[in-house]
Amino acid sequence: MIEGGLAALERRVAEDLERIAYPRSAWVPPRRDADGRRVLDVLIVGGGQGGIAVAHGLMRARVANIRIVDQAERGLEGPWLTYARMATLRSPKEVNGPDLDVPSLTFQAWFEAQRGADAWATLNKIAKEDWADYLLWLRRVLSLPVENGVEFRGVEPAGELLRATLLHRSDGRVETVLARKLVLATGIEASGRWWTPPVVEALDRRYWAHTGEAIDFAALAGRRVAVLGAGASAFDNAATALEAGAAEVAVYCRRPALQRVQPFKWLSFPGFLGHFAELEDAWRWRFMNHLLSLREAFPRETWDRAARHPGFRLETGAEWRRCETVGDTVRLETPRGVFEADFLIVGTGFDVDLPRRPELAGVAEHVALWSDRYAPPAGEENPRLARYPYLGSTYEFLEKQPGAAPWLRHLRLFTYATTVSFGPSGASINAMKFAAPRLVAGIVRDLFREDVETHWESLRAYDLPEFLLPGEEGETAPVKPVLDRLVGGRFG
Ligand SMILES: Cc1cc2nc3c(=O)[nH]c(=O)nc-3n(C[C@H](O)[C@H](O)[C@H](O)COP(=O)(O)OP(=O)(O)OC[C@H]3O[C@@H](n4cnc5c(N)ncnc54)[C@H](O)[C@@H]3O)c2cc1C
Repeated sequence: MIEGGLAALERRVAEDLERIAYPRSAWVPPRRDADGRRVLDVLIVGGGQGGIAVAHGLMRARVANIRIVDQAERGLEGPWLTYARMATLRSPKEVNGPDLDVPSLTFQAWFEAQRGADAWATLNKIAKEDWADYLLWLRRVLSLPVENGVEFRGVEPAGELLRATLLHRSDGRVETVLARKLVLATGIEASGRWWTPPVVEALDRRYWAHTGEAIDFAALAGRRVAVLGAGASAFDNAATALEAGAAEVAVYCRRPALQRVQPFKWLSFPGFLGHFAELEDAWRWRFMNHLLSLREAFPRETWDRAARHPGFRLETGAEWRRCETVGDTVRLETPRGVFEADFLIVGTGFDVDLPRRPELAGVAEHVALWSDRYAPPAGEENPRLARYPYLGSTYEFLEKQPGAAPWLRHLRLFTYATTVSFGPSGASINAMKFAAPRLVAGIVRDLFREDVETHWESLRAYDLPEFLLPGEEGETAPVKPVLDRLVGGRFG
């Protein structure tokens, strides 16, 4: 029996938010376009966990004139119910992130309110369906206005503002919106593309898929499947194929042995997660070159889920040097001989490559990359890392050529592509409580600085006495916030 259930928890959330609401007045002076319409303070693209965490932080900072758009249907944001083929999150269940450290907003609070503390105590890891449900719940209790089915198509400067183009997928309507700031919380692949080795890419599409895509697993029943990659996604896809009745599934990897040590567990401490970005470039590069060159190890459940099937095989030291179709069979040449399969699944991750993104046309070419700012010493070169953006201290894009696109500072990135600059940050649950507040602080700082003259005038016009003397009439502070009087209406 769970006393009060979710309804009681939601009352607690409301109380908690009320207790930390100070200072509560809206403070960002409104900007209007030529037609008198209010310009957005922030447009957030992406209503996954990253976009939600940022929106949560902004609302708490009383930056409420925001929109959050997501091209996916409601509930299908992020990978959880689409191409994430694991049963549970890989993170430990205690990880807390988009709650931004409000205890009643944590996953644990949400889970216990519905299933009880005993169920939490015996839970191993968080089911991905629960995580997706929890994110929807957060949106609701935080009143975050995510607009689904709205695709961000591009952005350009408009004086001191940004003009973003949005496509409403339901009716094909194209909308342009003016915003002061833009946050791209668009997910792992949206800073580049899923990466497939050229030997596979050259094959007819009938014979292969990437783990980041929709795959018809039912069609693999009775067939031989070869999976490339030694990461968690490769194994999750292998297990899904076996569960769908594949006759045999072999996982191939280049390494001589599976990586079973999880370096991302090592780095989960406040010094690293909170302050990695402040290290010198040489250290940031060295750490990330090491960490991103290792595969992330996966949890035991992932291994067990695939390995329990008799049709499962692991082929180490066996990268695919050549792939060719012979009839309906794919021949795979590896250093350990030739193998055959009917269908290939590649779990080879993604490549950060901003210029590939159509929605970043006109933007990407101006963005400073690590290759523009840092030359690693001999032995530490890494062309894949060199393509990551070299970001400013609060996730803003910096210019490749100083002065060529000063408006870039209004755009912030909150995806995996922040990793070389910040370590785990956008896109990692374990880092979110450090990363989202830093990004939010940058926006709040800039909104304040850019309006400093208005704030100065506001201060000089501030004439509300704390109390009235006998015989005086009028208002006293703080009944009517001063900025309201200056612009003739309440902010927010
Ligand atoms: C299979 C898988 C398993 C993972 N498991 C874990 C884990 O256990 N623990 C962990 O810490 N991390 C995990 N991660 C990493 C990370 O937590 C997830 O990728 C997470 O979804 C990142 O959150 P996000 O908000 O940055 O991106 P997403 O959740 O991907 O959300 C981005 C949103 O942006 C929207 N979008 C993209 N482009 C546009 C556009 N042009 N216009 C409008 N909307 C757009 C998308 O529709 C999407 O909903 C996993 C990643 C994957 C792929």
